[in-house]
Amino acid sequence: MILPFSRPLYVMVKPIGAHCNLACRYCYYLDKKGLYPEQKQHQMSDETLEQFIKQYIEAQTTPQILFTWHGGETFMRPLSFYQKAMQLQQRYGAGRQIDNCIQTNGTLVTPEWAKFLHDNRWLVGVSIDGPQEFHDEYRRTRDGRPSWAKVMHGIDMLNKYQVEWNAMAVVNDYNADYPLDFYRFFRDELGCRFLQFTPIVETKPGLMEGDTYESTDESVSAEQWGNFLCEVFDEWVKKDVGEMFVQLFDATLANWMGVMPGVCSMAKDCGHAGVMEWNGDVYSCDHFVFPEYKLGNISQNTIYELMNSGKQMEFSKAKAMMMAQQCQECEWLFACNGECPKNRVLDHVTRKLVHPLSGGGACVLCEGYRRFFSHAAPYMDFMKQELLAGREARGVMKKEILTK
Ligand code: SF4
Ligand code: SF4
Ligand code: SF4
Repeated sequence: MILPFSRPLYVMVKPIGAHCNLACRYCYYLDKKGLYPEQKQHQMSDETLEQFIKQYIEAQTTPQILFTWHGGETFMRPLSFYQKAMQLQQRYGAGRQIDNCIQTNGTLVTPEWAKFLHDNRWLVGVSIDGPQEFHDEYRRTRDGRPSWAKVMHGIDMLNKYQVEWNAMAVVNDYNADYPLDFYRFFRDELGCRFLQFTPIVETKPGLMEGDTYESTDESVSAEQWGNFLCEVFDEWVKKDVGEMFVQLFDATLANWMGVMPGVCSMAKDCGHAGVMEWNGDVYSCDHFVFPEYKLGNISQNTIYELMNSGKQMEFSKAKAMMMAQQCQECEWLFACNGECPKNRVLDHVTRKLVHPLSGGGACVLCEGYRRFFSHAAPYMDFMKQELLAGREARGVMKKEILTK
């Protein structure tokens, strides 16, 4: 029997669409404003908010419910919008446990915001790309002003009000060359215990399928990515296992153990995290917000129907079904699962650009992943054995393989 919602269902909400007070050079979302050219303002109405909250709660089969507010820049909506959202959550939640997390660029945090987030126990994801020099390379305002100092001010405010927050960083062509400076900044200067980082992989604008593949200048190369992962991993596995939670390493270990990883890019399938734009349009995934991946609108179909539709099931399965030959034959398939389909745009034989779900392309960063998996394998094997024996993975820090 198929139980589509035996896992929680997520739909990230974009209450202000793709509008943002920053214009980071690598942003993949800003141009989504072009999906709705007829309206200048892309603000979720009270009616859509209420419909969403009611339907989202009804769609869940687990006792806890997680709402994820995403942007654009979420803090460009006033606090009253989120206060209203919480009232509606209470009204329709009928006593169920409801949690909220919100993604922000951290530049608009005020004491009022911080107090609200603390008092209501919201988890905050703050985008920051490392020390000032790394961050300000690409994360700037529309008129080119840097944003790091404002983000740090926002983080100070969150700390002052004891708000729970995590850092979310991207690895690009610039900071990828300084893996240890990057990692130690989060660990030693920000005091983060949870760290997520994502590689920038974007195709040069204007290229068509069949053209020779080229990435944007900001994208990380496969070589840089492999080197970055190995260096950060070495630091982590020697000093920080059990203290610092690096999402990608946790996901790799999960796949080593044969359990579902906490990040979809490393999972076997897609489709459990949709996106809802400001006007109620639901798309298959945050990285597939294109007209052809629109599932419908919540004013016509419920979130349950949309996320459980044939179209979304097809999207979900495509990750495993439409896999390049080199992935099918790869010794690391169990750990990688071909990575995120968005990044499978390179035919590694012809070096041509292909459609991400055609089955003809493998991850642009494949060589980097291969290097990382083979480098981390002895440690992953050891941690797996420790966990299977009922011991803690941190034992790896004392293991003699580390002295090699
Ligand atoms: S803060 Fe986020 S949404 Fe805004 S421009 Fe930067 S990457 Fe894009
Ligand atoms: S396409 Fe990528 S980001 Fe979207 S669900 Fe699949 S793995 Fe995750
Ligand atoms: S490492 Fe490369 S070949 Fe192997 S599964 Fe990942 S993307 Fe495919």
